[in-house]
Amino acid sequence: MPNHESTTLKRKRTLSQGDESSQNNPPAPIARSDIWMDDGSIVLQAEFTQFRVHRTMLTRHSNIFKDMFSVSQPSSDLTVEGCPVVHLSDSAQDMKYVLSALYDQTYISRVAIPFPAVAAMLRLGNKYEFIQLREDALFRLRSEFPSTLKEWQVLPSDYTHMVTQGGILYDIINLALEEGLFSILPAAYYLCIQDIVSPANTLLKLSSPLRAGQNEIFSGQKRNDGTLATLPPSVQKACILGREEILVQQAQATLGWLDVDSEVSDNCNQQHSCATTCTQLVSILWKPVPEPCRSLEKWSQLDPRGLCSACREEAKRIHEAGRQHMWEKMPQIFGFLPWDELRKLDR
Ligand SMILES: [Zn+2]
Repeated sequence: MPNHESTTLKRKRTLSQGDESSQNNPPAPIARSDIWMDDGSIVLQAEFTQFRVHRTMLTRHSNIFKDMFSVSQPSSDLTVEGCPVVHLSDSAQDMKYVLSALYDQTYISRVAIPFPAVAAMLRLGNKYEFIQLREDALFRLRSEFPSTLKEWQVLPSDYTHMVTQGGILYDIINLALEEGLFSILPAAYYLCIQDIVSPANTLLKLSSPLRAGQNEIFSGQKRNDGTLATLPPSVQKACILGREEILVQQAQATLGWLDVDSEVSDNCNQQHSCATTCTQLVSILWKPVPEPCRSLEKWSQLDPRGLCSACREEAKRIHEAGRQHMWEKMPQIFGFLPWDELRKLDR
């Protein structure tokens, strides 16, 4: 990720301030953040940005800072306005979001916040044991990518606890992999595969002008600032293979009631009409190529006219059981452990 790479580069520069290369390139000037409390007792420095905050505020919210300061008073050769300076290896952006959240209590509210703020709260929440910040970030991420079908099927079409922005899905996946939040990944991968343009569709010059090789899953999604959010090859591979498996399972499970040589129900009372309806549906859903979006689709979104009441009832039963089956299989389809195991693995 470009952002990650630039952060890494900055960190390397921080570490090499004393070497030969830095003698030719003077270190960047230290900037003072907006988070500068006049009565603060300690100065945190992340990259080239300083934050003057209260030591008691840090120890109140973070077990790591609490332990750090209980062992010894922060001592530093360098002081700013009488406050010792503590150098941290985190990005200035992450630190700003986390300190803002602590001082402004943004985690008490459930209004949507920018994804970089959620990412900072999870990253530094894990690292410094800012428990409330971490829990808030987990709530926001898990609520958008639940691990049960019951929660999934009532989600609105857009994010509710994070501000939608370009590249957010890929950024969320990378964050979850980085921080070991595995339980949100199957639902996130399922969303990823919905945008894959099938080579068959491209050949037939259907809906999208994209060539298969230009799929965002390979090329990346543009963020609002113009940089690209990209997926690692391992995720691309899991999505491509998972999509194929979902298409097979979808035909056998959710849409399994269409896979019949005769009527859906043994009690069918209009056999010719029901068979015709099924044949027409197969033609609509399967041609020119099937799309994976049907596997979790609610019965109410499909509910075909033309089936007798007995076939309709039986089709609905198979459809609902198939959706549940698809959901239960979703983690393994993308190469993960089952849901229960994934939930236990979450840090
Ligand atoms: Zn029938």
